[in-house]
Amino acid sequence: MFKKILIANRGEIACRIIKTARRMGISTVAVYSDADARAPFVQMADEAVHIGPSPAAQSYLIADKIIAACKATGAEAVHPGYGFLSERTSFAEALAAEGIAFIGPPVNAIAAMGDKIESKKLAMSAGVNVVPGFVGEITDTDHAVRISDEIGYPVMMKASAGGGGKGMRLAYDEADVRENFESVKREGLASFGDDRVFIEKYILNPRHIEIQILGDQHGNILYLNERECSIQRRHQKVVEEAPSPFVTPAMRKAMGEQCVALARAVGYYSAGTVELIVSGADPTGESFYFLEMNTRLQVEHPVTEAITGVDLVEQMIRVAAGEELPLTQADIGIDGWAIENRVYAEDPYRGFLPSTGRLTRYAPPPAVAHQSPLVPSEVVSSEVETQAHGFSTTLEANGAGRDAYVRIDDGVAEGGEVSIYYDPMIAKLITWGETRDAAADKQIAALDAFELEGLGHNIDFLSAIMQHPRFRSGDLTTGFIAEEYPDGFHGAPADAATITALAAIAGFVATAEADRARQIDGQLGDTLPPPAAWSVKLGDSEHRVEMADGAISVDGAHYDLSMEYLPGDRILHAEAAGQAISVKLRRTRTGFRLTTRGASHDARVLPYHIAHLAQHMIEQVPPDLSKYLLCPMPGLLTQLHVGAGDKVLAGQPLATVEAMKMENILRAEKSGVVKIVNAAAGDSLAVDAVILELE
Ligand code: ADP
Repeated sequence: MFKKILIANRGEIACRIIKTARRMGISTVAVYSDADARAPFVQMADEAVHIGPSPAAQSYLIADKIIAACKATGAEAVHPGYGFLSERTSFAEALAAEGIAFIGPPVNAIAAMGDKIESKKLAMSAGVNVVPGFVGEITDTDHAVRISDEIGYPVMMKASAGGGGKGMRLAYDEADVRENFESVKREGLASFGDDRVFIEKYILNPRHIEIQILGDQHGNILYLNERECSIQRRHQKVVEEAPSPFVTPAMRKAMGEQCVALARAVGYYSAGTVELIVSGADPTGESFYFLEMNTRLQVEHPVTEAITGVDLVEQMIRVAAGEELPLTQADIGIDGWAIENRVYAEDPYRGFLPSTGRLTRYAPPPAVAHQSPLVPSEVVSSEVETQAHGFSTTLEANGAGRDAYVRIDDGVAEGGEVSIYYDPMIAKLITWGETRDAAADKQIAALDAFELEGLGHNIDFLSAIMQHPRFRSGDLTTGFIAEEYPDGFHGAPADAATITALAAIAGFVATAEADRARQIDGQLGDTLPPPAAWSVKLGDSEHRVEMADGAISVDGAHYDLSMEYLPGDRILHAEAAGQAISVKLRRTRTGFRLTTRGASHDARVLPYHIAHLAQHMIEQVPPDLSKYLLCPMPGLLTQLHVGAGDKVLAGQPLATVEAMKMENILRAEKSGVVKIVNAAAGDSLAVDAVILELE
């Protein structure tokens, strides 16, 4: 086994690889650019080598710098992660020439899968279903039209060297083909230096389902089930899950065996992923077709780890060192369900505008190790250090506690920057449950507890997807986001129960804060109890929240709320009407901004009688209370110094109130004319009772 490996990558995937290497007793070398000098992965690694300026083209993409770092540190192998140099044959070859192991597949496999036309031909000859179409280069527009007519519309025109969703165009008829064929060619040439184009049928109700492959250098190749990644935005994956709600055991077997055959055809070893496009319109599940093979570790690999218990990074390292896989196809099972949400630095409320900046607050929910013997709990949290993890071939549950599984794969820390130089992904949140619904419910709870401030992010959007009835039904296509959010995202819809819970929580917090103010304000303050009732306005609905003797009522009905609040808390965990709820809390000018379950709600919170006294003024703007003379404590109005129509000057005594056997003189806050006098000498007044109003 290697003693030291270098990770030619950054961010979350560098951290992810370091965790497994450390657990295996292998020392790690990080390489980093200027922008990453203080990044967590650099601190996590045993050694770190600076490789240049922030732009990837001047650092992470320069093979010579990586190789020089290996030599300088004595690293025997390189894990490339995903992106950057992971699928460059020239890099794998350069490493081989230096006698450094590449923790990935053989060069010929990377080469064979790097081209869409060539890989599609290979897939056909290996007996894999390919999308009906013309597998070859199409030269001119007339040829393209003839082919498209034969295939039948709609068709997809694709640049053979394309990737990342670029160089791809949908055509519904001959006119579309005539209009766009040349531009796909040009896009291929401009973006990938290659103008070959091919055409295939457009698959209806397309679902993106992929098969995880794992092979060794001794000819063993396995499939580790599927992942479904249909929830995409502009061909960028947002939500991934394993298994897929669409895939039956028979379909899984057929897909898995075809993909293994393809991997075998190129002598594949290490981890790899065969991406398939599946027609959701065909209920038989037989319409699945090869799209491409990614010859590397995939971003969404954790969901496979969560349901199979296999640590893919560990196996990649062992395979690169020449070890044989310790398990067979029969050992691969499916334990429960796992969902991954990608937390991106983009603002769904503003058309998914990319966002960069400093993470002024970054506190993901706590990671909880899975208790199941199937799952690599060691990669769950950087704190968890355990002995070497072997495979388990049993699918038996391990009893209590395993439901708690939450995994966060991230590479950022509070105070860190999300820069313009790299991928906008901040973190991956992975949850596991016995069922798909349980895993999705856990996502909602974990997203509610995920604190992230300083830049725009998609946490609310992810929560909304997790709650969406269509997502819950499993009726997915790659068009899900475009179809369900045609006008963009405006927050998840909130049900009445959530609104009532938020009203109660706002009342609770307002009371706690008023009570706290009473204790620290001093002077008159400490006899001032908080208002007994609050008006909490959420959207168009106003709720009366009353607090008496520790009991809460909302709109006159008793409400069961159990929570704690300390001034300064930014996240509240409550039990509201028997339901656990986590709410992020931020003060606003007129109350609180409460964020939960995929939406933010502005709660305007006022003492109830003030809200109603000043009703006409607070429809649009917050009330200006400075023109009211309010009684600051319960007491007896002993004297009124002014009457209606009197001019008063700031500081002038207006009334005297006796409380606790002390006389308190209430003075004008500002100059004006007395408009109305609301009380008379001898009246007993409550807190905040209006004594008079100035003009
Ligand atoms: P890239 O290499 O750019 O990622 P792919 O060939 O993997 O391109 O396709 C990206 C996405 O485009 C797929 O996930 C799928 O959503 C869509 N797509 C590709 N080919 C087809 C097709 N023939 N029919 C329907 N959708 C397709």
